Amino acid sequence: MAIKKKNTVSKNTEPAKIIDGKVIANHITDEIKRLLKINNTIKPGLALILVGSNPASEIYVRMKEKKCAELGFYSVINKISEKVSEMELLAHIRAYNNSSKIHGILIQLPLPKHINERKVLEAVDFRKDVDGFHPMNAGRLLIGEKCFIPCTPAGIFELIKRYNVETSGKYAVVIGRSNIVGKPIANLLLQKTKGANCTVSITHSGTANITEFTKNADIIVAALGKPEFLKANMIKEGVVIIDVGINRIEDSNSPKGYKVVGDVDFKSCSKKASMITPVPGGVGPMTIAMLMKNTLDSALKKIYN
Ligand code: NAP
Repeated sequence: MAIKKKNTVSKNTEPAKIIDGKVIANHITDEIKRLLKINNTIKPGLALILVGSNPASEIYVRMKEKKCAELGFYSVINKISEKVSEMELLAHIRAYNNSSKIHGILIQLPLPKHINERKVLEAVDFRKDVDGFHPMNAGRLLIGEKCFIPCTPAGIFELIKRYNVETSGKYAVVIGRSNIVGKPIANLLLQKTKGANCTVSITHSGTANITEFTKNADIIVAALGKPEFLKANMIKEGVVIIDVGINRIEDSNSPKGYKVVGDVDFKSCSKKASMITPVPGGVGPMTIAMLMKNTLDSALKKIYN
């Protein structure tokens, strides 16, 4: 007589493990401090170029300056009028390219409309391009050569490695194809290296049925800028979710009148996922930590001699 086999598909009853970006960012900060102690003749220098007075950009630049001060880096904020001409801005960049005190140059985006962003980013010496936006670094990332990796994807990659997420042979789906997040993290996960070696799909606003991809994914990186877009019915049990989104939504219960949420519906997805990053406290804190790491690497000539 044939024995009826039990249905062995088990439901994940454990809540998802939280991938804590604050903890890992603190570890990276401590590692930078240790490296600076060993290399005590080096003082990494970061130039922060801020054009105009976008309030969010001003906050981001101040946060970066504060982190530099905490670590003992040299930093300079160059606040430039919104009316600056492209030629003048390029002259500022050239001065930092030639300064021996400066190892990293960061242009805070967005730039005013009359300025060609690409031209400005390409004017930065690629050896000081700690944001990893220069085509030389983007190209080297694509072919798997040493380069400056944009800070947010570099931070995501560190989280994946330090939480020992199994990646080799896994199916990763990236939602969003920006040059800042989507494309570089897809490239990192694709490389034939430790902590990567995934099969990768990149989805975007033109993808016909995103759920067909996300439902099969072992790893999902959500970077589309749409509040709580990814829902539990779009994922499978046990998936690892990295939520890059930072979105403000109205919240009458908050004294500020708003709250910050990611691109993932955390409440429903965390019941099905095996690991998940929260917002805030996931990818966010990693971005500045990786900027500091890139600036130190530049000062130590770890990427380019
Ligand atoms: P972005 O440049 O606006 O790119 C968004 C991408 O998502 C685009 O490729 C877009 O497709 C795609 N997209 C938009 N709506 C979609 C939809 N309904 N379905 C599928 N794809 C869709 O944004 P970003 O700079 O990559 O940033 C993404 C999110 O991450 C934002 O919330 C941002 O605030 C956040 N962020 C966080 C950090 C951090 O430090 N944690 C850093 C950077 C960004 P198309 O290409 O077709 O337009």
